Amino acid sequence: MDKFFRQRDAAFISENKMTPRLIDAHTHTQFAAFEKDGDAVIRRALGAGIWMINVGTQRDTSANSLELAHKYDGVWATVGLHPIHTEKSFHDEQELGITNHETGEPTPQPPSQREGEKKRDAISLLVGGLAGFTSRGEDFDYDYYKKLAQDSKVVAIGECGLDYYRLTEETKNKQVEVFIKQIELAREVGKPLMIHCREAFTDLIEILEKHLIPTPQPPSQREGGASGRGGRLISPGVVHFFSGTIDDAEKLMDLGFSFSFGGVITFARAYEKLIKFIPLDRILLETDAPYVAPLPYRGKRNEPLYVEEVAKKIAKILNKDFEEIARITTENAIKIFGLK
Ligand SMILES: [Zn+2]
Repeated sequence: MDKFFRQRDAAFISENKMTPRLIDAHTHTQFAAFEKDGDAVIRRALGAGIWMINVGTQRDTSANSLELAHKYDGVWATVGLHPIHTEKSFHDEQELGITNHETGEPTPQPPSQREGEKKRDAISLLVGGLAGFTSRGEDFDYDYYKKLAQDSKVVAIGECGLDYYRLTEETKNKQVEVFIKQIELAREVGKPLMIHCREAFTDLIEILEKHLIPTPQPPSQREGGASGRGGRLISPGVVHFFSGTIDDAEKLMDLGFSFSFGGVITFARAYEKLIKFIPLDRILLETDAPYVAPLPYRGKRNEPLYVEEVAKKIAKILNKDFEEIARITTENAIKIFGLK
């Protein structure tokens, strides 16, 4: 996309609120990595005709994603508890900022200490080192998330699911239990799931087959925010950053799921077969910012604007026009999440 088109589309967005060019269906501009310039990052994307869904991962990042969604047209939220936050887990400073090592609670920093990166690094070395440290696991508070989930700008429940990458048997049970509760919440509020799954597809699919009702209730019978969005859900949700096999993809498609792909596809060839296999009407684009920036930004902090590189790569893999990929993936996200 050259500058001329960017500017032209930016004008459409602000003046006519037309449909967007692209949608970043899974991002985290509410995370600590965007503490200093989050608004500029969001405006940059919206100015280029890119809408976004900020995905919650625990209590605070869920509430903050909703707050941002209320601030901007073209920005939506999901609320939920990520499987790694159900247990004592690796603490990611890019996600939650600096926290107290002992309690896992955020450590309030005086503004003077927020300013310089140098000072920030010094603090993180003091409290736990740059390699990260563990934080306290969260219990899933159904009522807390339900209250947020009923807001009309919340478009999905999650990210939720299973992550067996760093696992002990006891945390496995808790992940399963918390995931089932979030499937129940999604059904109760009539909104799709935003699924995270790592090295756990067999268990994930089994749980979904057992606990998901593939055909959601009509909008008139749904509660809260869902009823205000109109239209019926066409999908039980999206599996983000899909890393399963073709066989897993087939089973998830039978259940009605779609898949979002991000930056990793621009530098790892392993995804090409999968992207050719999954029908285009089941594919969405994401950045998962601040993580895993696409080429040519690899190694830098990712942001929603870069979703364009993911679209370009899918166009290349499928040997189709960029514009066709942009249009279809945008329509998919609008339909699945009821964006308007
Ligand atoms: Zn994510």
